[in-house]
Amino acid sequence: MKIAILPGDGIGPEIVAQAVKVLQALELPLELEQAAVGGAGYEAHGHPLPQATLALAKQADAVLFGAVGDWKYDNLERPLRPEQAILGLRRELNLFANLRPAILYPELANASTLKPEVVSGLDILIVRELTGDIYFGKPRGVRTCPDGQFAGQREGFDTMRYAEGEIRRIAHVAFQAAQKRQGRLTSVDKANVLETFQFWKEIVTDTGLQYPDVKLDHMYVDNAAMQLVRAPKNFDVIVTGNMFGDILSDAAAMLTGSIGMLPSASLDENNKGLYEPSHGSAPDIAGRDVANPLATILSAAMMLRYTFNQEEAAQRIERAVKQVLAQGVRTADIYEPGMQKVGTRGMGEAVLAALRSAA
Ligand code: NAD
Repeated sequence: MKIAILPGDGIGPEIVAQAVKVLQALELPLELEQAAVGGAGYEAHGHPLPQATLALAKQADAVLFGAVGDWKYDNLERPLRPEQAILGLRRELNLFANLRPAILYPELANASTLKPEVVSGLDILIVRELTGDIYFGKPRGVRTCPDGQFAGQREGFDTMRYAEGEIRRIAHVAFQAAQKRQGRLTSVDKANVLETFQFWKEIVTDTGLQYPDVKLDHMYVDNAAMQLVRAPKNFDVIVTGNMFGDILSDAAAMLTGSIGMLPSASLDENNKGLYEPSHGSAPDIAGRDVANPLATILSAAMMLRYTFNQEEAAQRIERAVKQVLAQGVRTADIYEPGMQKVGTRGMGEAVLAALRSAA
């Protein structure tokens, strides 16, 4: 079980250090190796995704990624900016499936902008296709409009397309994720308007024949957006394309109100994965021991579940996090009066203590 540890910039090194401590405490045969990425990669080797870092990520079974980016790199030309590292890794490792859980622990129900009874205990998973759809379809560009009322004017255009194999592989990931959860999958499309998503629906339905234990339903994206804020707890797993997933996963993340709590996974065809918190490098709080490391710690739990098939170890971490929250331990971003405020390291230590006491 070889893991590439890529802490990156800003709060990345602080939060990843806590997740590494948690992984090490599990006493599994893990081999961890660290490399520079993002702004740190640029400083050390002149490139946000140095060759040695990419080679390590390719050799490893999984990557634990902190975050990249800092305003001080804003004037670099685009290919050298820290954010290019994550795009490069997704491309080079063929990470086509993005898994983002949105979980709201009952103890944090007040952090949401929705009423506690609507979101308390929320536990949904959004599976977003990450490498296709209108974001990558060609042709695209700006041209002279060839027909219609605006013929002869300039127009911008993009191409929405999904190949059968592309839909099947993301559908398999989603069905298998649903099997590990409550066994319900909602495929989100716009089949009433778009040919691409009529086809999507057909292929997802056909793939579903191989998963009789998963209950599949279909929902138009506009309705899905509405249901996410009306009754989010009705969902278990949602699967959708790149653009709809981009929008819905951010909306779902915000249901929980605490960005420091949300892990994510990006997987390839063999469940090799890159695991990272859903938030960025938070340069505004970097180096001050205040960042919440739980999203990164929970990303490590996802790694154990999806890449290494270590469900029990994943649940040990998740139970430890729940216990710490139940004890009232809080970093500043989720703090409420009367709770025990800790820093990044303090939160890492609390999770470690909970892990050990449960062992
Ligand atoms: P951000 O997610 O870094 O921060 C948004 C806000 O949330 C900030 O106020 C920050 O302090 C807070 N926050 C984020 N994570 C937190 C945590 N763990 N604990 C407590 N508070 C936390 O987004 P941003 O400010 O828009 O971007 C900052 C930098 O991060 C930019 O350079 C951006 O490009 C980069 N970024 C990187 C990734 C990535 O590495 N995958 C993703 C998003 C943004």
